[in-house]
Amino acid sequence: MKRPRITDIRATTVTVPLEAPLRHSNGAHWGRFVRTIVEVETDVGIIGLGEMGGGGESAEAAFRALKSYLVGHDPFELENLRFMICNPTASLYNNRTQMHAAIEFACLDIMGKFLGVPVCDILGGKMRDAVPFASYMFFRLANKDTGEGETRTADQLIEQTLALKKKCGFTSHKLKSGVFPPDYELEVFRAWAKALGPDSVRYDPNAAFSVEEAIRFARGIEDLNNDYYEDPTWGLNGMRRVRENTTMPLATNTVVVNFEQLAANILNPAVDVILLDTTFWGGIRPCVKAAGVCETFQLGIAVHSSGELGVQLATMLHLGAVLPNLVFHADAHYHQLTDDIIIGGPMRYENGAIKVPTAPGLGVELDRNRLGQYADLHKTLGGYSYDRDPSRPGWFSVVPNTRWADPSDDRVVDY
Ligand SMILES: [Mg+2]
Repeated sequence: MKRPRITDIRATTVTVPLEAPLRHSNGAHWGRFVRTIVEVETDVGIIGLGEMGGGGESAEAAFRALKSYLVGHDPFELENLRFMICNPTASLYNNRTQMHAAIEFACLDIMGKFLGVPVCDILGGKMRDAVPFASYMFFRLANKDTGEGETRTADQLIEQTLALKKKCGFTSHKLKSGVFPPDYELEVFRAWAKALGPDSVRYDPNAAFSVEEAIRFARGIEDLNNDYYEDPTWGLNGMRRVRENTTMPLATNTVVVNFEQLAANILNPAVDVILLDTTFWGGIRPCVKAAGVCETFQLGIAVHSSGELGVQLATMLHLGAVLPNLVFHADAHYHQLTDDIIIGGPMRYENGAIKVPTAPGLGVELDRNRLGQYADLHKTLGGYSYDRDPSRPGWFSVVPNTRWADPSDDRVVDY
C-alpha cells in the first residue's frame, strides 16, 4: 500500500464570538477567540486538520514557511517530525513547539483517516467513551451589543453556573480568577462553592498572588470540596512554598509545561497535578508521554484548555480517552463560544461529558461555509491583546499582582 506524503500546508485565521468577554489576571479575551486552522494535504487525497491559538498574517506566514520542511514527509514519522520542527537546541532560535502541535494533530488525523481508525486507537486505545469536563467559569464583562452576560457578583456567577449545570450536567466547576481583590474573590468563591452543593470546585488565579497571599487564600478555602488549587502563585519555588503550607493539592499549567520542568518537579516536588495541554506540550503524543511519567511517579493529571474550537477539542477528547490515570475532569472554554467551524458543531455536552469522536482520524470535518464566515469576521475585527483589559485602558498586570479590578464597576464597555 502506498504511504501518504505531505504535499502542502494551509493556515486560515478565524474569529469566533464568545458569549461575553472573559477576564483573567493578565487581561481578557475580548468577546471572541482568534484561532488558526491548519490543513495539511497529502498525495493520497487525505487532508489532516490542526489548530493553534492566535492567528493573523504572521501566524499564517509562519505555517507557510514550514512547507519546505514538510513536503515529501511521511505523516507516520512523528518522531522525525518532532526533531525536524522543534529540535530542542535549534528551538533556542525558533520556538516552534505550538506550531509543531498543530502539525502533529494533522498528521495523526491523516494517519487515522488512512488506516480507517480514530486517533485514540493509534494512541493506545480508549479507556472511556466520553471525557468528563468541568464547567469553566470566568468573571466576564457584559456583551457590548446586548449589555448582558456580565459576571462580577456572586449572584451572577451562581445563576450562570447553575444554568450551565442544568444544560450540560457539570459536577465539577472551575473559576478563573485573579481579577478582583483577593478578599472579594474569596467571598465570591465561598458563596459559589456553597451554592453548588456536593459538586467539586477549583480556583485558578493564573499565578496572580504573592506566595503569602496564596497561602492566606488557601487557608480561606481549604474546607471546601476542592479538586485542587491551580497556579495560585508564579514559579516552581513559589508553588513549593505554597504547597508546604496547604492541605490542598496544587495544580499547574504554567510552571510544568515541558519534560525538563516535569523532571525538576519530580526531583523536588512543587506541584501535585499536571494539567496537560495538547498545544503547550507540542502535541497529543507528548501529553501521552508526560501522562506516562506522571503515572510512574503517581502525580495527578488533567486535560488543560488554552481555548479551543472543534479541531483542538477533538485532540483533547482523544487525549482524555486514552489516559488511564485521568481522575480529574478536563477543562474546556468550549461552552463559552457561540459557534464552531466543524460540520454538525458545536459538539454537545451530555451528563457533563463530551463523546470521543468515533470517525477515522480526529473525527471532525471543517464546515467550509462557517470557516469562510469566521475568516471574514477575523478580517473585519482583527486581533486583540490578550494581556490588556478593554475596561481598563493603560492597565497591565504585574507579578505578584496588586492592580485589581474594581468589583463595583458595572459599566458596559466597548471592545
Ligand atoms: Mg490554569
